[in-house]
Amino acid sequence: MEKHMAVCPYCGAGCKLNLIVENGVVVDAEGIDGVTNEGELCLKGMCGYDFINDTKILTPRILHPMIRRTKGGPLERVSWDEALDFTAKKLMAIKEEYGPDAIMTTGSSRGPGNEANYVMQKFTRACIGTNNIDNCARTCHGPSVIGLMDTLGSGAMSVSIPNMEKADCIFLFGYNPSASHPIVARRIVKAKARGAKLIVADPRVTESARIADIYMPIKNGCNLAFMNAFANVIVNDGLMDKEFVDAHTNGFDEWWKVISKYTPEYVQDITGVDPATFRRAVHMYAESPNSIIGWGMGVTQQNQGVKTVHTIAAIACITNQIGRDAAGVAPVRGQNNVQGSCDMGMWPSLFPGYQKVADPKARAKFEQAWNLPEGFLSGREGFKLTDVPHGAKSGEIRAFYNFGEDPVQTEPDSTDMIESLSKLDLFISQDIFMTQTTALADVVLPGTSWGEHDGVFSASDRTFQRFTAAVPPKGECRHDWEIFADLSTRMGYPMHYNNTKEIWDEMRELCPNFYGATYEKMEGTGHAQWPIPTLDCPGTPTLYKGGQFTTADHKAILMAHDYIKPTETPDEVYPLVLCTVREVGHYSCRSMTGNCRTLTALADEPGEIHMNPADAAARGINDQDIVQVKSRRGSVYTRAIIDDRINKGAVYMTYQWWIGKCNVLTMHQVDPLSGTPEDKHSACQVIALPDQ
Ligand code: SF4
Repeated sequence: MEKHMAVCPYCGAGCKLNLIVENGVVVDAEGIDGVTNEGELCLKGMCGYDFINDTKILTPRILHPMIRRTKGGPLERVSWDEALDFTAKKLMAIKEEYGPDAIMTTGSSRGPGNEANYVMQKFTRACIGTNNIDNCARTCHGPSVIGLMDTLGSGAMSVSIPNMEKADCIFLFGYNPSASHPIVARRIVKAKARGAKLIVADPRVTESARIADIYMPIKNGCNLAFMNAFANVIVNDGLMDKEFVDAHTNGFDEWWKVISKYTPEYVQDITGVDPATFRRAVHMYAESPNSIIGWGMGVTQQNQGVKTVHTIAAIACITNQIGRDAAGVAPVRGQNNVQGSCDMGMWPSLFPGYQKVADPKARAKFEQAWNLPEGFLSGREGFKLTDVPHGAKSGEIRAFYNFGEDPVQTEPDSTDMIESLSKLDLFISQDIFMTQTTALADVVLPGTSWGEHDGVFSASDRTFQRFTAAVPPKGECRHDWEIFADLSTRMGYPMHYNNTKEIWDEMRELCPNFYGATYEKMEGTGHAQWPIPTLDCPGTPTLYKGGQFTTADHKAILMAHDYIKPTETPDEVYPLVLCTVREVGHYSCRSMTGNCRTLTALADEPGEIHMNPADAAARGINDQDIVQVKSRRGSVYTRAIIDDRINKGAVYMTYQWWIGKCNVLTMHQVDPLSGTPEDKHSACQVIALPDQ
């Protein structure tokens, strides 16, 4: 047996493991002593390696390139030469006729790694000539990136995952770590065992809520009102650190003009939290020596996601609960390399290393490094991933190059997404599995799987870690970065790399905050946490020490906004709030975990809808019944799970299931400041079926 060091491909916790290979087949995984996981793994890390072996449980691996010669015709197996020549010719024709901004690409926040993403964004910007590139952060933590960059200067976690267990108080808001990041949940449990206080605000009684010192069962869709009131109590109850506010923030007076009316009593009907409990929670957070606020998609997938993050950041600043190892903000990222996709510039306004495309100096630097004529790179912010449906239907986007995403499964309003993709002149999908999205493509390109290539992932807390290949590529699969470089060369912008290290070193030279993160530092269980600007820098687990924010004048900018209701609220026809959530044993669109034997045995089709006993009884629904769920977008059938941890008036579905797909029901309504869909709040009805 051989052991090959890897980083788990399933969430931003960044757990290190060995893949164990026997006779060329990955047969097991074991946790090793990584900086975030200390040898531990969760269910997915332990049992989630199987898909590499092409088990064909849910869908087969794609093992060779395919094209459709005519729109709507069959997918035909072709050689790599034919597939790439076909793609290059079509992309060049579209660029010639409609301009580079008619082409949209994506990064992949899953298995491919940072190097593949870097080459994809270089292909998009330097070969095609557009900033139309985005990644799945748009659908999840985009509001955290934007909201924190606006206020503090950096869009990432300010603390490290290991240091979370040193906090004296952890406040989890709209975040269910036991399902999303079990190894982060372990840190929280360890903190609690050490004596830390735990505050949880969530509509559902999550695992964290069960062990919380204060649990606040908030109403769905109340976030900004809740956080504004939290900030209000800090000021009114004398919990603010005025000296810190005066020295390290801007905008307090304007901020207070908005916040001053949001008392807990004023928002009680919106939040559902009694003012006494509310005040106890605020005091616990503000008076603890070191407090961390952690949040997830309960905050971000709302119509006021960015605005809520502005208030969360302000709360950390006015209480001086930031800039220390165990005091700060923790938006824990979902997919394993979604932090890396953002680090690598898979973002329509940012080059790698968070350098703005609008900055002429940054453009000039990248032009010189990439051998481009002066003025070639665009300063226009590109389209967002959630612009694709409208852009495809309006004709503004004519070609879409999807790299390792599955928007039909994971983006809202699947029916509309399928119709939109059918309008494109050219739809390319590069993936390892024939997902519901890839099955619609005109060109299908097989990349290598996690386990078949090496590279660097970024964990959620800005930690770069190396992973290695365990087995050779299956079939005719090629490394993603090789595919992009080959295609780019065929389109007249030659790119050639011999290995991922050459790509990584090119990227480091261009990104000052990443320069010291060499492959050598990341050998074995080594890691490098950015900012890491020099070769002798050990990395930076904690941002903003001494109140030094990374804004222009190093002061935080306090921003406040009034609360508005969610876009779609329950009514007589659709009386229940529908909220999408995660299932601990499965991941994203489920193409990977759905092809793992153990994980599939633990939870299989058709998915579930979780509902409160009173709502079920009112509809004559029993536990395990098959029910119909309807919204303004569509209808699905699924199994009802009656669960008293669910709040009355709301139902919860995971978005992973191919049958009973909940994104048939969700709506394409986005936070206007981030373009992130409002997946946590739409309206639906659940209907009992006769004769069960
Ligand atoms: Fe993988 Fe996340 Fe589980 Fe760690 S916590 S083993 S990174 S899924």
